Amino acid sequence: TTAPGRTVFDAVESEVRSYCRAWPVVFDRAEGSRIHDEQGRTYLDFFAGAGSLNYGHNNPVLKRALLDYIGRNGITHALDMSTTAKRAFLETFHSAVLEPRGLPYKVMFPGPTGTNAVEAALKLARKAKGREAVVSFTNAFHGMSLGSLAVTGNAFKRAGAGIPLVHTTPMPFDNYLNGRVPDFLWFERLLEDQGSGFNHPAAVIVETVQGEGGVNVARAEWLRGLADLCRRRDMLLIVDDVQMGCGRTGGFFSFEEAGIVPDIVTVSKSISGYGLPMALCLFKPELDLWEPGEHNGTFRGNNPAFVTATAALETYWRDGALREHTLVNGGRIERSLRELCAEHGRLGATYRGRGLVWGLEFTHKERAAAVCRKAFEHGLLIETSGPQDEVVKLLPPLTVTASELDEGLGILARAVRDTA
Ligand code: PMP
Repeated sequence: TTAPGRTVFDAVESEVRSYCRAWPVVFDRAEGSRIHDEQGRTYLDFFAGAGSLNYGHNNPVLKRALLDYIGRNGITHALDMSTTAKRAFLETFHSAVLEPRGLPYKVMFPGPTGTNAVEAALKLARKAKGREAVVSFTNAFHGMSLGSLAVTGNAFKRAGAGIPLVHTTPMPFDNYLNGRVPDFLWFERLLEDQGSGFNHPAAVIVETVQGEGGVNVARAEWLRGLADLCRRRDMLLIVDDVQMGCGRTGGFFSFEEAGIVPDIVTVSKSISGYGLPMALCLFKPELDLWEPGEHNGTFRGNNPAFVTATAALETYWRDGALREHTLVNGGRIERSLRELCAEHGRLGATYRGRGLVWGLEFTHKERAAAVCRKAFEHGLLIETSGPQDEVVKLLPPLTVTASELDEGLGILARAVRDTA
């Protein structure tokens, strides 16, 4: 038997230590924006399953739907086949998300994770254009499989591939060059220069806000410029909305605000709304090119996830209330971070974000780590991101209340002060 208080690392010697999250407690229960450890201590969770719990832990409406479904012996396996749960999800996704936005997408289930959605998107784009090259961006994160790693801009993670990651080229993300070079100048020049050895890409894959890369926010006009470049130069635009989709930036899709319509969109993390594995690859109808069986997998059709996803869409995406709530609360975080940075101006900390994803960048990763540790001691879960883990990332559930937000921001300010 396991003694309470021992972490899984201590208790089970076989636990592989490759994972970076090591809060020194064992978590047991959670609801809404709060999570409890087995000793009964409660924390505000502004990490929210790395963005997979936009509607909070054990959201009561989603829980009811799941319990009802299991109670009536609904299909619980995840093999990709027609089920009533899948049909209900597709109908609701169409009527609550795609139709009101005038989006033409076909929906496919690429496998259970965000990585699976990215793999499917890359494969489909390459097939559609008959070209191998794909462009991605500095500090991008798209997943840990070989295909998705090849478009990930993180040297440490790429090194883990163990083989050359080929057919991809990184380009500077928005603001990477601090405006010293006009947007896309390099890119245009390489596309024009037939002799440069730059292979014409099948696609460009981009996050509108780089979550893992340090909360780097692309401007709407930069995204519009990119979409325009892709159209003019016959490249497919893939928006990876795995972390920023499902309302994180306000709209259901993070690219809505820019008014662009990507050719392919990846969605995962919060689509089930209950932390259950589920992913979507959305693409324009002309990209419906796969034969049956050309891309398959046992866990492509997670029925319990369809049930909670449908309940989440029905509850939160039939009107604009959640979007409004997200934007108003995002404004609260922005004000708080602005004050914090002004107060601690000599540290040179900076902040940025959109909707309910915010980053507080320190000059050293040690400080960012110390802030997260202190915050944990004071009852707040937050994590670092960025190429050097120097950015403290705030990712509360979208359903967070204003008072929970103020409480968490108060703890963050205290943690910053305590580590000065
Ligand atoms: N794309 C983005 C933008 C992500 O943030 C992540 C996960 N952090 C992934 C892809 C990979 O998703 P998963 O971990 O579910 O495979």
